[in-house]
Amino acid sequence: MNIGVLALQGAVAEHIRSVEQAGGKGIPVKRTEQLAELDGIIIPGGESTTIGKLMRKYDFVDALRDFSAQGKPIFGTCAGLIVLADRLDGAEEPHLGLMNMTVARNAFGRQRESFETDLDVKGIESPLRAVFIRAPLIKEVGSDVEVLSTYKDEIVAARQGHLLASSFHPELTDDYRLHAYFVDMAKEASERTAK
Ligand code: GLN
Repeated sequence: MNIGVLALQGAVAEHIRSVEQAGGKGIPVKRTEQLAELDGIIIPGGESTTIGKLMRKYDFVDALRDFSAQGKPIFGTCAGLIVLADRLDGAEEPHLGLMNMTVARNAFGRQRESFETDLDVKGIESPLRAVFIRAPLIKEVGSDVEVLSTYKDEIVAARQGHLLASSFHPELTDDYRLHAYFVDMAKEASERTAK
């Protein structure tokens, strides 16, 4: 599976490594023309306002909406989750507006800017090591969104069909199972469209 990592800003190299460890081919994506060769794409962590601006500048907004409309999987981690959301807490405009959820940025406050913990994630057998860095939280999801993981009763991972989102950074540990889960989503999607 060819898995792109949107390489405008943020944690790109780490995602590429994790994709490769999970058995996919990791491809840094800087131009919209590259989307045609992909079976799925990851929007990494970083700074969502910056990623959003660069996405608009390099015409990724419509191109990624198109990609999603074809049923091709998108995985947003941390800032990437913010970029995927339909609704942002506060007055901020959404970026891609693809996933039916409301997201609050920097939701852990200054005291807990970054931390690690073990999380139960639906679809993954034993707890997953998760790194949170100035992480967002999913405050509310639509009925078409499945909650995959919570931390202290707050939603930190969710899936809506071919869209996957995590508040934390799965690429910063040696645990590649969430990337493997996404590679499987890409396989399922490509088998579906091949039929
Ligand atoms: N705090 C960042 C934002 O709001 C996200 C942080 C991250 O991706 N690690 O965009």
